[in-house]
Amino acid sequence: MKLWSQYFIPTLKESPADAEIASHKLLIRAGLVRKLGGGLYTYLPLGLRVMQKLTQICREEMERAGGIELQMPHLHPAENWQQGPRWAAAREIMFRADSAGDGKRGPREPELVLGPTHEEVITPLVKAEITSYRDLPKNFFQIATKFRNEIRPRFGLMRAREFVMMDAYSFDPTDEGAIRSYHAMKAAYEAFFRRIGVRAIAVEADTGVMGGSFSHEFMIPAEIGDDDVIYNEASGYAANREKATSALVPADLPDAAPVGAREEFATPGAVTIAALEAAPYGVAADQQFKTLVYVGDGKLFLVVLRGCDELEEAKLGALGFGVFRPATAEEIAPVMGAKPGSLGAIQGTIQDPAALAGIFADQAIRLIGNGVTGANRDGFHVRHVNVARDLAVTKFGDFRRVRPGEPDPRSGQPLQVRRGIEVGHIFKLGTKYSETFGAVYTDDQKQNHPMVMGCYGIGISRTLQAVIEQGHDADGIVWPWAVAPFQVLICVLDPQLPEAMEVARTLAVAAEQAGAEVLVDDRVERPGVKFKDADLIGIPLRLTVGGRGLKEGLVELKGRSQREVVKVPLAEAAARVTAAVHEAQANA
Ligand code: ATP
Ligand code: MG
Repeated sequence: MKLWSQYFIPTLKESPADAEIASHKLLIRAGLVRKLGGGLYTYLPLGLRVMQKLTQICREEMERAGGIELQMPHLHPAENWQQGPRWAAAREIMFRADSAGDGKRGPREPELVLGPTHEEVITPLVKAEITSYRDLPKNFFQIATKFRNEIRPRFGLMRAREFVMMDAYSFDPTDEGAIRSYHAMKAAYEAFFRRIGVRAIAVEADTGVMGGSFSHEFMIPAEIGDDDVIYNEASGYAANREKATSALVPADLPDAAPVGAREEFATPGAVTIAALEAAPYGVAADQQFKTLVYVGDGKLFLVVLRGCDELEEAKLGALGFGVFRPATAEEIAPVMGAKPGSLGAIQGTIQDPAALAGIFADQAIRLIGNGVTGANRDGFHVRHVNVARDLAVTKFGDFRRVRPGEPDPRSGQPLQVRRGIEVGHIFKLGTKYSETFGAVYTDDQKQNHPMVMGCYGIGISRTLQAVIEQGHDADGIVWPWAVAPFQVLICVLDPQLPEAMEVARTLAVAAEQAGAEVLVDDRVERPGVKFKDADLIGIPLRLTVGGRGLKEGLVELKGRSQREVVKVPLAEAAARVTAAVHEAQANA
């Protein structure tokens, strides 16, 4: 039992100006965290209690699924990352933690970095320690702080620069084993989210900079989420927008036949899709080609889409470049022979085709029967362009952003979109890391093979806030029982009355014996203040003990999410509290 007056719960009436969303406001107002700087937070006692519960439940589910807990350093030798497969991409978000300059290293070569995740540490460890198939499979996990120099830290703990993650890494001898490990983790995640009382859905996700073969994100549906989930309720299809695909282009679509010969025409000043749609040209956006130029690992490449479509940049990850970015106008002109706005992918019109790493076309351009594209000559376009006849496509793929209403790839029914918060992510990694770091094992025939890896992460601190985002009302937080900082709050309205405190203590003992954690509000404050704070901090079960009630031989019982207050005779109070706690535990 904790006494509020002796504890530290600094509640606030107002939320700070930088808190835009409900859960962020409540985090601060309910005294769970305080901000130190952008994306940096102190966990105050209540917030820490919730973190400890989330951590413990996560640990239990990971261990149940066969995970083995360990703890790796937060500071990593930069060398580990330089040897790894994603140094170029990862260094953008890594904090450097150089030791005082020894003058030997240039400013761009850090000696130590703060770990944003731990593949580059665990894989060399496993390489050094595990050599035989007899010691596999293994799944190691830790629950620890991660550091990422997010460009835009925001929404409190949702996107922080220092945050707590459960990260796990599985090592299997075979691909089938790795798939089993992946499914065991997926089930453990589902159990974790169920136990903490939040609804999280597994959606197909992009593998991004991690590479690897497949992946799911766990999303909590919420308006303020950073991610779009594309889904169809009936078929069960659900994918992150970066990964989502649709059946817009039928697999058996025949190539369009050419309509007349290609013809260049002058389009002075018309450098946008919209300009060509307008008079005097009148070319529908879905009959135009959009030609984008990117730089991948130092070489230019083209991406061709329909004029009406948007590039889903993450899908370029499938092309296998380590890093890629849009090319600048200065990089484009000498290779293409024209400025953006007049570009195209027609064979023979590109000034220096040998400078290109490839021409990658979204498959939806096959829906264009008779198209218009840039002539690679400023102020000119070409009409009657036929995909099969005219475009020098290296490879077709899915690069466009799916729009709601398009046919679901599973059922053909319209896709829908909703916002979600990513709280967890699982990857089947394959052998990318084990090959890079030489994490091989010897089988029973004395043959060496790379281990097949998976990696898995749950944002524990982000989840804390997502729980609030999903569980609050106009008055404050409504904690699920399993993660509430305390389960029972006893509001003593007249703490100066010894008999009131006496009753509170008796009831606290009863609740504790039933297995609840109890906070006693013994502050000398007006009832209105106490009830407001009680709603704000959201403890599931509230008991009110007051001088007036005691005269009538009554105490009050109220659930945080219920409106009505139940008056309970003093003699029955302990039994009623015990029953209420047991019932809540059974439902949790
Ligand atoms: P996001 O897309 O939100 O940037 P991510 O895909 O980079 O996240 P992962 O590398 O998959 O994140 O990390 C695993 C989990 O860690 C995420 O699912 C998320 O819950 C959490 N997480 C990632 N970045 C942050 C952050 N900046 N602040 C808080 N939690 C984070
Ligand atoms: Mg992720």
